Amino acid sequence: MIRINDNYLKLPGSYLFAAIAAKARAFRQTLAVDDVISLGIGDVTQPLCPAAVEAMHRAVDELASSETFHGYGPEQGYEFLRKAIAAGDYASRGVKVSPDEIFISDGAKSDTGNIVDILGCGRVAVTDPVYPVYVDSNAMAGRAGDYTGTKWDGLTYLPCLEENGFVPQLPSEKVDVVYLCFPNNPMGTVLTKDELAGWVGYALENDVLILYDAAYEAFITNPAVPHSIYEIDGAKKVAIEFRSFSKTAGFTGVRCGFAVIPDELAVEAGDRKVRLNELWKRRQCTKFNGASYISQRGAEAVYSEEGRRQTRSTIEYYLSNAAYLKGALEEIGLKAFGGTDAPYLWVKTPGGMPSWDFFEVLLRYAHLICTPGAGFGPSGEGFVRFTAFGSRETYVEAARRLKKLNM
Ligand code: PLP
Repeated sequence: MIRINDNYLKLPGSYLFAAIAAKARAFRQTLAVDDVISLGIGDVTQPLCPAAVEAMHRAVDELASSETFHGYGPEQGYEFLRKAIAAGDYASRGVKVSPDEIFISDGAKSDTGNIVDILGCGRVAVTDPVYPVYVDSNAMAGRAGDYTGTKWDGLTYLPCLEENGFVPQLPSEKVDVVYLCFPNNPMGTVLTKDELAGWVGYALENDVLILYDAAYEAFITNPAVPHSIYEIDGAKKVAIEFRSFSKTAGFTGVRCGFAVIPDELAVEAGDRKVRLNELWKRRQCTKFNGASYISQRGAEAVYSEEGRRQTRSTIEYYLSNAAYLKGALEEIGLKAFGGTDAPYLWVKTPGGMPSWDFFEVLLRYAHLICTPGAGFGPSGEGFVRFTAFGSRETYVEAARRLKKLNM
């Protein structure tokens, strides 16, 4: 008899963005509206930087000749890219990460979702609101308990509220694993070095593993904000860091990211200590055959001088969209958070309106799509998320429509 993994049956029906797309489609069709602007989904719009494009063209040419052809690559990723990352992302900030501690992947979604494979059951904490992948991947592995309509009863939620500056407080109960994402999706907020140091100290004292998602690291502009958790002393003993080229360099369609699993990160298993990077290597060797040679050459080019200049300019463009939209939202009396070190704005709904209601108002009266905060967890209620990844023209038009709304 075929049995399914019935943890999947506990998952709420549709993925948040599918639900939003269905509502927008129904609205367009029913009212024959064709000017809907989506500021909801976190996908980039600006083309890949020319340095990456040229590198990928060269890589394709190499694959076209038997002398320079590449088949399966090394499981952990090509050394040329791991070295570029170690130097460009870490040594340049005074952080020592060896290329051997870096694992190239097809993106941070896979890595943050797959990491549960090497962890045993334990109590998992997530910030609330939260990037849904952390929650759903634990639910699929049977580690989240049951879904109660707004949350999973087997997870510990760490509310990030306006009152606490959207900073998660340390858990009051014993947990074993904590997911932290900074700069944060969906809130667009960051942690200061002291705040992050508080988390590392807590993890060291309480034997907690931190899964640190730094997919938006490239958007940090405030010099007081750490780019890597390893900027904090002791973090290599307690944290795995995930990064992605998706938002940094427009790789959402190309696919490339990486995880750093330090050598020092070892856990007790019976009478021995096991290094997590050994387990991850074992897992990846069995279930993953690497990001393509082409993607990895493209990612390497992001670290070249031109690559850096070009990606910086695109990131500045997105951040200027965020600033522009924030100004427009504030002009109509809305409170908007984030957007200075991240491509997201976290916007308080007017008069405490539920987030799906405000989504409907914006769709119906301004033909704008945002993401209702409730979709990211119970503490997201009362907020909506706007992304800054569109073209400037869309924000100019969105601002014009917002100003016409009578809030
Ligand atoms: N982590 C966070 C917090 C994200 O918001 C996203 C994408 O939106 C990802 C990871 C996934 O990135 P990738 O495209 O590398 O899979």
